[in-house]
Amino acid sequence: MKRLMIVVPAYNEEEALPKTLDVLDGVLSDLIETNKVDKASKIVIVNDGSADKTWSIIEDAAAKNDHISGINFSRNYGHQNALIAGLTATRDYGDIFVTIDADLQDDVNAIPKMVAENANGFDIVYGARNSRETDSAFKRGTAEMFYKIMGKLGVEMVPDSADYRLMSQRAVDHLLEFKEHNLFLRGIVPRVGFPSTVVYYARKEREAGESKYPLKKMINFAWDGITSFSVAPMRFILAVGIFSMVIAVGMMIYAIYRELTGHTVAGWSSLMVSLWFIGGFQLIGISILGEYLGKIFNEVKDRPRYVIQDNLLSNQDFDDKQA
Ligand code: UDP
Ligand code: MG
Repeated sequence: MKRLMIVVPAYNEEEALPKTLDVLDGVLSDLIETNKVDKASKIVIVNDGSADKTWSIIEDAAAKNDHISGINFSRNYGHQNALIAGLTATRDYGDIFVTIDADLQDDVNAIPKMVAENANGFDIVYGARNSRETDSAFKRGTAEMFYKIMGKLGVEMVPDSADYRLMSQRAVDHLLEFKEHNLFLRGIVPRVGFPSTVVYYARKEREAGESKYPLKKMINFAWDGITSFSVAPMRFILAVGIFSMVIAVGMMIYAIYRELTGHTVAGWSSLMVSLWFIGGFQLIGISILGEYLGKIFNEVKDRPRYVIQDNLLSNQDFDDKQA
């Protein structure tokens, strides 16, 4: 029987976490009782440097319940790094891995469906929302645009899937081979390949607490997604640059022609407009270059993606599989 690891990133989730643990424990117990997963399966919460009581909630729950465990980061390293840390810490112990948010927005009833699809031979089972009614029209609109742009840029993604998915051990092993620091799992996981399928569910309101992805973080996340997968923005700048140079050459020829035929080109406004336009365009071009350069800088430094302060998984009962 397969051992299931449920990996849950949590950042300042003291309000939502107790209920989440309860609900996930219920789902896991059902799966164990009906012999769908091994009884040594676990829920592993990764505390991403929360400033509230999240970690003590995790410690208490782990002390009372063998199925619950946790990892504590030394500070906030971000959602994607928390997911990677959870998978890295459990890869030797588990056979199948589910990642899910701590706020119960993703329907936990999809977990048994994912496990069933895995039993049908799928290495990766994506959870995808079949409705986004609970998200604001703005979030829906921008998300849709983002998936469209990514598609155009040639980044394969499963539309409306977040970081709620099941992966087999070999899929996780290959995922962890991707060493880049600018992690964008939604774009990377499809690159791992292997047979995959999608399970649909309705996305709910956040159970408690506030979204940890305010607009600014969302924009950063989307921009990271685009620039870590594609050099298309640079190509676009190049194309516009060539286009404007062609126009400029045309204008030069025209001005010389007018000069020779005795009509000097007048026009301050046309000059100013083009000056500002080209100037602005150059600044954008430089900043996009800088963005890629910064990414390279970060990768080259090769700093650790996260630092683990406490790891409840190092307990003996966790090591029985390797022993
Ligand atoms: N999260 C995290 N580190 C962060 C931000 C968020 O581990 O720096 C976790 C958060 O606790 C939650 C998940 O990532 O479990 C998704 O965050 P959230 O629900 O706030 O995002 P939204 O659903 O609003 O996009
Ligand atoms: Mg959420």
